[in-house]
Amino acid sequence: MNDIIRPDFHDDDADIELSLRPQSLKDFIGQEKVKENLAVFIEAALQRGEALDHVLLYGPPGLGKTTLAMILSRELNVDIKTTSGPVLERPGDLAGLLTNLGEKDVMFIDEIHRVNNVVEEFLYSAMEDFHIDIMLDKGPNARSVQLALAPFTLVGATTRAGLLTAPMRARFGVVLRMNYYEADELKQIVQRSARILNVPIDDDAALEIARRSRGTPRVANRILRRTRDFAQVLADNRITLDVARDALNRLDVDSKGLDEMDKRILTTIIEKYDGGPVGLNTIAVAVGEESDTIEELYEPYLIQQGFVKRTARGRMVTRGAYEHLGYTRKNNTDASQGNLFES
Ligand code: ADP
Repeated sequence: MNDIIRPDFHDDDADIELSLRPQSLKDFIGQEKVKENLAVFIEAALQRGEALDHVLLYGPPGLGKTTLAMILSRELNVDIKTTSGPVLERPGDLAGLLTNLGEKDVMFIDEIHRVNNVVEEFLYSAMEDFHIDIMLDKGPNARSVQLALAPFTLVGATTRAGLLTAPMRARFGVVLRMNYYEADELKQIVQRSARILNVPIDDDAALEIARRSRGTPRVANRILRRTRDFAQVLADNRITLDVARDALNRLDVDSKGLDEMDKRILTTIIEKYDGGPVGLNTIAVAVGEESDTIEELYEPYLIQQGFVKRTARGRMVTRGAYEHLGYTRKNNTDASQGNLFES
């Protein structure tokens, strides 16, 4: 996937990304169920004067998990400290962060499924009883001291809820799933971002970008910014439908938001494996991509769009995928004999 539409790719102008982040639940477009639930939990925690229960947000990259964590802390009027699973190598890394938290503060751990076992053990007691045991000294002099922590809210984000251990998951009182956005929601996000970036955009152009952004705000914002460049240089600064289409084509994003790698995955299954079923690892080798990346990044969108099905025997492409990629049906072929289509 090119970097522009890779939803997990944090390049870029950090400042712009920051300025586009909604600051309150009210400004956060879409994910209505998640927002409704959070609003109630925030209100209840504020009324009781307690820390909000620990929150787990899961879903594909770029859907707003980090943004929501920041909004949470703002709406709770507390500070937030952020880190991520792979960064927490030793219990000391975690202890340093946790002991610096103020009363009811939010601690955000991105990619929490990548926290290692040792650190995870420490998290358990921190989350459950707000204390951590620290070992002092080694050998015969070793002893542990217990450090009390201020009550805090852990917000964990993960793209792979299935990789969290059961005890870890059980420690989150609030578990919320983020879904891909609908086109009309993404359209509003594009329009809001265009306002902030100060670039006029036509309605139909905003919808076109929305439709081709993999249901993902980070992708929509990134495409909008590149489209703005084209508009500035080629079209008098205004993003019209033609400008948007032209930019999207130049960026190799097709009418359903699929990019080169998506298409390579589908055509590989079709042409080399007769439409499937075929195992994930085989696909990964055939297209030259990590199987984790395929499973985390490409496949969820292909499944959501109805192009790929998961079966007990492997991945299969659907009729919709054949049609979208322009394969036509073979004549006189017995349906039970496999591939019904030809290119
Ligand atoms: P995640 O943590 O799930 O990978 P982020 O919270 O970093 O995603 O969101 C990526 C970008 O998308 C943010 O910079 C933000 O501007 C934008 N974004 C995400 N969700 C929304 C939303 N609901 N409304 C407007 N912008 C959003």
